[in-house]
Amino acid sequence: QLYNEVIELKGNIRVFCRCRPLNGSDIVNGSAVSVVNFDSSPDELQVICSDSSKKLFKFDHVFRPEDNQEKVFTQTKPIVTSVLDGYNVCIFAYGQTGTGKTFTMEGTPEHRGVNYRTLEELFQICEERHGIVKYELLVSMLEVYNEKIRDLLAENSTEPTKKLEIKQAADGTQEVPGLVEARVYGTEDVWEMLKSGNRVRSVGSTSANELSSRSHCLLRVTVIGENLINGQRTRSHLWLVDLAGSERVAKTEAEGERLKESQFINKSLSALGDVISALASKSAHIPYRNSKLTHILQSSLGGDCKTLMFVQISPSTADLTETLCSLNFATRVR
Ligand code: ADP
Ligand code: MG
Repeated sequence: QLYNEVIELKGNIRVFCRCRPLNGSDIVNGSAVSVVNFDSSPDELQVICSDSSKKLFKFDHVFRPEDNQEKVFTQTKPIVTSVLDGYNVCIFAYGQTGTGKTFTMEGTPEHRGVNYRTLEELFQICEERHGIVKYELLVSMLEVYNEKIRDLLAENSTEPTKKLEIKQAADGTQEVPGLVEARVYGTEDVWEMLKSGNRVRSVGSTSANELSSRSHCLLRVTVIGENLINGQRTRSHLWLVDLAGSERVAKTEAEGERLKESQFINKSLSALGDVISALASKSAHIPYRNSKLTHILQSSLGGDCKTLMFVQISPSTADLTETLCSLNFATRVR
């Protein structure tokens, strides 16, 4: 098979691509033509560009529009469950607004996503290891909006709360003093918590979806383990991150608050790309400090930490430019 251009992804960090199905509005807009082909292997996809040239992208795995939440979780499970063995893990959903970042991470009550399935799996394994390792699971939920950190589980977080800051702890890890860590004992606790955190998230915005597309939402699971046989203790973090929409806002369209927001988003997403690509290329300097997002995640990115990025794309012709931007971003982080 001949392609005009072949883009290969190399390195350690895992990148999965997930393409959403064509939907009603694609049809209404007359853009229900898929520019994405999956006729090759399970880790490749092909994009047909506007000049009819074809670009091939390779990933660790490609999820097609018909792949369900369970299939996605099967591939994700080994990475997330390693937090129980003491690894720090970061999972990101990256992409243009409307491509399924929240669907992948949060999901819906009928089609629960990675966050819920992960906690369900962690509780299951804790049960299986009962009598061998004693675990404690704590959940925090926060939002980064315009480079400000907001605690979504704080009691009074509907009011302007005091600003949370990132501090370096004695052991060199990054901490957010004052951040609520809620102990969870089962999946019901988790589901309720996610719901209440999301309610807090949308307060103050005219449209919940609007705000959520302009802020990063971070769910942190802290696992404290005590091996009852050798007494060894571990403390590790799993971060499940639903990133702000990656779409570029035309300078002519955005002004004031909207322009400021989009500049903060661009800055933090490119800072994330810079950190991951510096890690992938084993660079001596990793620029964690360039954004709140990367700074807060510093102790969970790099070293023997595990990183997984979901690059979410739309198959629609109308989204071709953004799709290529997202796929190129993914190429850069490997
Ligand atoms: P984002 O968070 O990236 O803005 P959403 O997760 O809100 O996007 O997805 C936009 C819409 O598309 C939602 O209604 C969601 O349920 C639907 N959707 C996204 N991905 C899929 C998928 N793989 N299968 C079915 N529906 C999906
Ligand atoms: Mg979303």
